Amino acid sequence: MITPATRPPRGDRRPAVSRDVVVTSRTTISEHMLRLTLGGTDLIAAVHDSPGAWVKLFVDEPDGFGEHGRAYTVRGFDPVRDEISIDIFLHGLGTMPRWASECAIGTRARIGGPRPSGAPSRSAKRMVLFGDETSLPAIAAILEREHSHRPVAAFIEVADERDRQELEAPGSATTTWLTRRRGEAPGSQLLAAATQTEFTADTGVWFAGEAASAHWFRRKLRPLTLAELHVQGYWRSGVGDYRE
Ligand SMILES: Cc1cc2nc3c(=O)[nH]c(=O)nc-3n(C[C@H](O)[C@H](O)[C@H](O)COP(=O)(O)OP(=O)(O)OC[C@H]3O[C@@H](n4cnc5c(N)ncnc54)[C@H](O)[C@@H]3O)c2cc1C
Repeated sequence: MITPATRPPRGDRRPAVSRDVVVTSRTTISEHMLRLTLGGTDLIAAVHDSPGAWVKLFVDEPDGFGEHGRAYTVRGFDPVRDEISIDIFLHGLGTMPRWASECAIGTRARIGGPRPSGAPSRSAKRMVLFGDETSLPAIAAILEREHSHRPVAAFIEVADERDRQELEAPGSATTTWLTRRRGEAPGSQLLAAATQTEFTADTGVWFAGEAASAHWFRRKLRPLTLAELHVQGYWRSGVGDYRE
C-alpha cells in the first residue's frame, strides 16, 4: 500500500474539501470486510498526515432522493493512480454496506474531508489501541505507519473470527484478537481487556468503536494520568447516522 510523501502536515486544519470519485475496484478482505478503491483527481487533498484519518463518503440514497453520507477511514492512498481505498464493514443493517456490496465499477460517489483520527502522537512513549470492526481499518493504518520502537498494544474485537486480518506492524507491537460472543454487547471484550491492562503515565490510549462502550472507556480512563487519551464512538447500536 502506497502512502504519500507529500501529505499535509500533522494538525493541518484545512477546510474539508469535496471530491467526486468513482469506484475502481472492489476486493473482499475478510468475511465481512470489503475494500473499495475510489479514483478521482487530486485525492492527495483527501489524505491527512494523521494515520487512520477519515473522510465522509457520500453515495446516492437507494430511493434516488438525496445522499447518504457516513465516515470511513482512508485505508490507503496511491498517488500515482490517484486512488484512495476504504474498508467497509458489512454489518448487515446499513445502507452503506448494501451500496458497497452492490455498486458496479464506475459507480459515482463523493468524498469530503479529510479529518484526523486522534491517534497518539510521537510524544507518547507507549501506545494502546482498542477497536472493533469499524475501527480495524484505522488501527491497521496506525500500526502500518508506526516506525518507532515504542511498545504498542492493539486489542481488536470482532464478532466473527473470519474477520481477523494479517496486519503489518512493527516488531514492538502486539495484536490481540478478541471474539465477541453471541448476545454480548459490542465492546464487552475490549472493556474486559482494558480492565486487565496497566496504563502508565507515558501511554497514549486510543479507542474507537460502539458509542456505549466508548462512554465506559471515557469514564474508566479519564481519571487516570495518561500521556494522551482519545475515545470516540464510531457508531451507536440502534441509531442510524450516529455522530458524537
Ligand atoms: C471517524 C469514523 C471512521 C469510521 N471508519 C470506518 C471504516 O473505516 N469502516 C467501517 O466499516 N466503518 C467505519 N466507521 C463506522 C461507520 O461510519 C458506521 O458504522 C456507519 O453507521 C455506517 O453507516 P451505515 O449506512 O452502514 O449505517 P447507518 O445508516 O448509520 O445505521 C443503520 C443501522 O446500522 C447500525 N450499525 C451501524 N454500524 C454498525 C456496526 N458496525 N455494527 C452493527 N450495527 C451497525 C446502526 O446502529 C443502525 O441501527 C467510522 C466511523 C467514524 C465516526
